[in-house]
Amino acid sequence: MHYYDSVLDLIGNTPLVRLNSVTEGIAATVLVKVEYVNPGGSVKDRIAKRIVEAGEKSGQLKPGGTIVEPTSGNTGIGLAMVAQQRGYRCVFVCPDKVAEDKRNVLKAYGAEVVVCPTAVDPEDERSYYRVSDRLAEEIEGGWKPNQYSHPANPASHYADTGPELWRQTDGELTHFVAGVGTGGTISGTGTYLKEASDGRVKIIGADPEGSVYSGGTGRPYLVEGVGEDFWPDNYDRNVCDEIIEVTDAESFHMTRRLAREEGLLVGGSAGMAVVAGLKAAKNATADDTFVVLLPDGGRGYLSKIFNDKWMTEFGFLSAGDSATTVGSVL
Ligand code: PMP
Repeated sequence: MHYYDSVLDLIGNTPLVRLNSVTEGIAATVLVKVEYVNPGGSVKDRIAKRIVEAGEKSGQLKPGGTIVEPTSGNTGIGLAMVAQQRGYRCVFVCPDKVAEDKRNVLKAYGAEVVVCPTAVDPEDERSYYRVSDRLAEEIEGGWKPNQYSHPANPASHYADTGPELWRQTDGELTHFVAGVGTGGTISGTGTYLKEASDGRVKIIGADPEGSVYSGGTGRPYLVEGVGEDFWPDNYDRNVCDEIIEVTDAESFHMTRRLAREEGLLVGGSAGMAVVAGLKAAKNATADDTFVVLLPDGGRGYLSKIFNDKWMTEFGFLSAGDSATTVGSVL
């Protein structure tokens, strides 16, 4: 009999797939690491298990305790999966720009969700950072692991994501591209790949226009899960060779192309990372191999990026531009 002891054993060892259509005119090989095949549907499953184990080990997470975390959804799903199996309660704090579908997923896994305004200063008492601090203190047995500073976040990518990529490409990848949110993915994976290749692999961060990583002030943008309005501890400022700024429009159009042309139904931060990867690969040669990490799947964005009305309302599509419906009308 072949089976896994629990869904947690399905985390990681995600596949690499070559992009074949959106790469037109590019000589380099561009591969994507498909993180939506993790059981909770995102790259964040990887960090959740290690964070909970670290909390148990340090004694900060007590039996029957409550995990309180600011999360745009994906870290919450991972934490909720681990927590439900070990008897912890979860309370997640999300900014209001996070799609309702995504919040409902957290509730489906048994977590409680508190929604906060996006467009306030991180120090404002209504911000999702401050609200999660307050709840972690007020709730008996509350613990806020804080994915922005918990060392298990980059450590899990250093231990797993980096070595997987090195093995899967036989050490031949030349560039690694990922969006930057907490910075855990790029810092952990990037540090491993730099070490394994003696500094040969170039690390490229993708960032939404307006976020601090690419020199912005943190003004609002619509792509979810990436970019910040502050500098998290888990972002290693020395790891990126280059940061490429991507607009919401570029991210969302590429996200739609990935679904239609590559059969990859992914979220907006994946589209953003692919745009950055293609920009970086423009002048690369056929000897170069780029790997772009796709953090999550597209089902949580059906009412936004994949909805023509929403795209038109926000100015990303013009009227009559809705290629999805034209065919069926004729
Ligand atoms: N994309 C999505 C959809 C995410 O939820 C996250 C995590 N915030 C990221 C990208 C960025 O990953 P990291 O936090 O490791 O920088």
